Amino acid sequence: MAHVIALSNQKGGVGKTTTAINLSAALARLGQRVLLVDLDPQGNASSGLGHPKDAVSAGTYDVLMEYRDLDSVRQPTSLDKLEVVPATTDLIGAEVELVSADRREQRLRKALNRVRDSYDFIILDCPPSLGLLTLNALIAADAVLVPLQAEYYAMEGLGELLRTIHAVQKGANPDLRREGIVLTMFDGRNNLSKEVEGEARKLFGKEVFKAVIPRNVRLGEAPSYGKSIVEYDPRSTGSRAYVDLAAELLRRHGIKFKRPEALS
Ligand code: ADP
Ligand code: MG
Repeated sequence: MAHVIALSNQKGGVGKTTTAINLSAALARLGQRVLLVDLDPQGNASSGLGHPKDAVSAGTYDVLMEYRDLDSVRQPTSLDKLEVVPATTDLIGAEVELVSADRREQRLRKALNRVRDSYDFIILDCPPSLGLLTLNALIAADAVLVPLQAEYYAMEGLGELLRTIHAVQKGANPDLRREGIVLTMFDGRNNLSKEVEGEARKLFGKEVFKAVIPRNVRLGEAPSYGKSIVEYDPRSTGSRAYVDLAAELLRRHGIKFKRPEALS
């Protein structure tokens, strides 16, 4: 049964979507069956995997509103073990439309329960807020992975996120775990990046992944080709880092895998 992991941090631009796409793709290349669910109305995870929101007719919104089954809206990607539930433009309305809906925070959990057996990992790309879409993700998830940008004010807002996770643990999802923290956009030449890393490791210890994602222009370019970094430029530092992250995640879960020659 799939491990469901939500990528969440209510700050925008910290690398949630880049991590959602490339961790999913790296896991797929390491032999895992992966589903990425795009919960951000911006739809960047969908377009980054070749499904721009104006090119798909149904997606996460229809699943949350219970207009469509998840298996009828999931889309293939150029990687054969990776599928995506895309975001469409109407997802922006879901926050408001769900407010009056029955069991509004449980919608995603219910939908995922039906497909959990078909995957090894389900990755949820959350929007930059702690609203109803993120709440659906935290209630559907087994664990939360927090991307932390190795930049100014990285820790700002982390307390609010941890309190939200705690509140969900006390309420609708007592089994929710913290998968950990991954440092993103790390620049080894910048003292600030090292300071943020040091502080995060001091505060959160083993929760912080050893794999660190460097700032790498290739990671910024890949989405405009609708491709993950492992396909766009498998030799880049960004690709290696995401494969390292995927490998570390699999080891943490005791899952055996083989790293393909082309990715080492
Ligand atoms: P979020 O989903 O948290 O808002 P994104 O993943 O969309 O953040 O990243 C914000 C911007 O930073 C995007 O333009 C993305 O291409 C770029 N970016 C993210 N991670 C990296 C990285 N490691 N190196 C270079 N650019 C990155
Ligand atoms: Mg995003």
